[in-house]
Amino acid sequence: MRPEFKYEKELAGTANAKKRKMEQYRKIVSHLYVIGKASIADIVKQSKISQPLVASLVDDLLGFGILLDNGIGESIGGRRPNLYCINPEYQYVLGIDINLHTLTIALFDLNNQLVCRQEFKNFDLENSSIYTDQLVVKVNEILREMNISTANVLAMGVSIPGLVDAENGITFTHLSFAKEGLAFYLSNKLGFSVLLDNDARLMALGEKAFGKAKGKKDVLCLNLSNRIGLGIILNGQLYSGKNGFAGEFGHILIDPDGDLCYCGKIGCLETLTSGEILVRNINKALEKGQASLLSSKKDKGFSVDLRAVIEAIVEGDQFAIDQLNKMGEYLGKGLVTLIHLLNPEMIIIGGRLAHTGKYISDPVNMAMNKYAMDRISSETELVCSELLDDSALMGTLSNVMNEVLGIN
Ligand SMILES: [Zn+2]
Repeated sequence: MRPEFKYEKELAGTANAKKRKMEQYRKIVSHLYVIGKASIADIVKQSKISQPLVASLVDDLLGFGILLDNGIGESIGGRRPNLYCINPEYQYVLGIDINLHTLTIALFDLNNQLVCRQEFKNFDLENSSIYTDQLVVKVNEILREMNISTANVLAMGVSIPGLVDAENGITFTHLSFAKEGLAFYLSNKLGFSVLLDNDARLMALGEKAFGKAKGKKDVLCLNLSNRIGLGIILNGQLYSGKNGFAGEFGHILIDPDGDLCYCGKIGCLETLTSGEILVRNINKALEKGQASLLSSKKDKGFSVDLRAVIEAIVEGDQFAIDQLNKMGEYLGKGLVTLIHLLNPEMIIIGGRLAHTGKYISDPVNMAMNKYAMDRISSETELVCSELLDDSALMGTLSNVMNEVLGIN
């Protein structure tokens, strides 16, 4: 079910007349969503719709409540024009970020402002309706707390790791129990449209709309958390591949004599470099008596997980930094293949490990300098995400708004 604004659902007339009207309204709403506020004359120029028709469409949209009169703008000779903008509270977009152990739910208004964000730790992902039913309960609780009705939710965007067929709303790696597809299943339970996609691709969308990839054409967005994901922006567009599975960068072969990967292959990049591997290697060394800020934590009975490792790195723990360096070298090697192939202008490190900043970007940069052809790699800027843990959430928002407004 394609998400529609409230007023679009209420339009009367024949299917063709409705479609034409919806397209005209969307042109205006979409322009105001991107630009913020505009006068009738601005909208006429941009939409190529006649002045009297724009005036009447804007009147309709004011009546529906989706537009607001934003007061008087600057004059460019003659009478000062009225400006119009989107009513940010007309409807809301829900964003859900599903991770292996954490669930984050966010609510955005139509000005892309975060209205509410709740994170549920130890919300372990399992392939059952128990998980999704709990998720539905949490979403409904938040809507109740915020006093927002189902009708006032434009749509919900969902970010989930693993293989996803975004077009048909089907997940293959996680929550694949829903035979009719996860999007349909959730939409049925909640009463509004649900759009889902793979987490790395949504992170890339988030970076493109609100982060460091804004205005850039060729960008690789890495999701470096427990595992490795990759979102690819080529020529300003998110690249998905034939089935939507593009970006399985963690499973490129790096070491033919290496370890078995959870995907069933041997020596994948993810057997050498990922948050999970980092934590595993550090724990092994701590058990053998390695000196580190983390050893006293372990002695006190705290589990040394990715969160603890990242904290230790940021505090300057030499051993943890050394381990991250090793990982960075493998990652850099893997990235060189992509750089030679795609010649990106930017690589963004996102995901949990982006919190380590220069501690991850420095070793990756060094490996890139070492293994890549200078003429190609010198044009590629390596940066850490500023959206950090929220890039996938911001991506779910962007995904919904792009779909509703027909923006690419
Ligand atoms: Zn693999």
